[in-house]
Amino acid sequence: MQRFQPWLTELWLIGTATLLVWLPFNWFGYGAEFLIVALAAYLAWHLYQLRQFVFWLSQNARAVPDNVPGVWHEIYHQIYLAQKRRRRTKRRLTQIIGEFRDSTNALHDAAVTLGSYGEIIWFNHAARELLGLRTPQDVGQRISNLLRHPKFVEFEARSESEAVLEIPSPLDVNLTLSFQILPYRQGQRLLMVRDVTRVHKLEQMRQDFVANVSHELRTPITVLMGYLETLSSGGEEKLGRYARPVSQMQQQALRMRAIVDDLLLLSRLDTEHNRLKYEPVDVPALLKTMADDARVLSGNQQHEIQTELDDNLGLMAAPKELQSAFGNLIANAVRYTPAGGQVTLRWQCEPGGGARFEVVDTGPGIEAQHLPRLTERFYRVDAGRSREVGGTGLGLAIVKHVLERHGARLQISSTVGVGSRFACLFPASVITVLKR
Ligand code: ADP
Repeated sequence: MQRFQPWLTELWLIGTATLLVWLPFNWFGYGAEFLIVALAAYLAWHLYQLRQFVFWLSQNARAVPDNVPGVWHEIYHQIYLAQKRRRRTKRRLTQIIGEFRDSTNALHDAAVTLGSYGEIIWFNHAARELLGLRTPQDVGQRISNLLRHPKFVEFEARSESEAVLEIPSPLDVNLTLSFQILPYRQGQRLLMVRDVTRVHKLEQMRQDFVANVSHELRTPITVLMGYLETLSSGGEEKLGRYARPVSQMQQQALRMRAIVDDLLLLSRLDTEHNRLKYEPVDVPALLKTMADDARVLSGNQQHEIQTELDDNLGLMAAPKELQSAFGNLIANAVRYTPAGGQVTLRWQCEPGGGARFEVVDTGPGIEAQHLPRLTERFYRVDAGRSREVGGTGLGLAIVKHVLERHGARLQISSTVGVGSRFACLFPASVITVLKR
């Protein structure tokens, strides 16, 4: 009601003044003429105020002028307040945008926002340094026209938020950049680019170190094994009290060679990442042979080794790698399952496409807290037991690596006292149908 007060006052004033002046005019017979002239004057006055108002608005509606009369003063005042609120909000938003720009410019990682066609909307300071982007000429350009590395073009077209691409920098081939694309709004994406040269070099050094050490250790171990073989070939009588130490040395040398071989295999899997040669593999035939090998490994422990195989299901894979991954899982099942236990090898289609190879045993099982760490290098639940059965601590790391190279993953489930299940899940893209 407070707001309408000036308007009511105006109405009351106009009504009263008109009535008071109209009465004498009407007395003399000029009532109608007076009303027309009064209305015309009133309209002219409002038109004049309207003109002043438009002029005031065009001057940015700063302060309300002092001499504005009647209801117009309230109009000026309300508009002035609204403008003031709008200016304050604008200032706050500008400040927030400024802070956001400053903080993103302080980042060492490049951030580029992309529209639905891959066109550049905005980028931070690091994007100029890492990717060589320039304002204003690059804004609006498609990112794949500026970063033309074929792998990036394909990566940008696929645009999977989980995927990370590492390629040399477009400005300096000695730098390695890691790219990730994250969707953040309808149709818009955020491209994050990080300089990973140092991490890359360290990783390279680690790989080279492991590969070189393993390689260098191979020859001395072979020489030692040769001498130990010669020593033990004379029989226990000749060796006398040295028979036991020699046999133990032989066992340890064998273990060392197994570790070195597994390390070499792992470093090969690490370094030959892009050189995987797929060929059709007759998985059922391979698993039948491996089941026979498992029976030999079981020896007089009499494990019951069963196979349930889909005879028509094959894989496009690297046969040696596949054999080594499956071999590790089967050997683990036999070695960790007590004598007389059951080991089942299953190879079958998955309901949603894809295929599954699983090894199920009736061994001791593994406590849940160990499961996420089993594929780490040298992680063992029971180091003593692992050594006893000839484990290297690298088997499951090899399995994980090989599966990753085939787009597959390892799923482990286990119940203590019941047994374990190690399943390899292959995507439909690597499956083939075998013609018999
Ligand atoms: P290792 O050479 O020691 O067997 P792996 O990487 O193959 O190394 O396995 C890691 C650990 O996982 C093993 O030390 C063992 O404790 C546990 N493990 C693997 N397979 C089984 C299994 N089938 N049953 C029980 N424990 C297992």
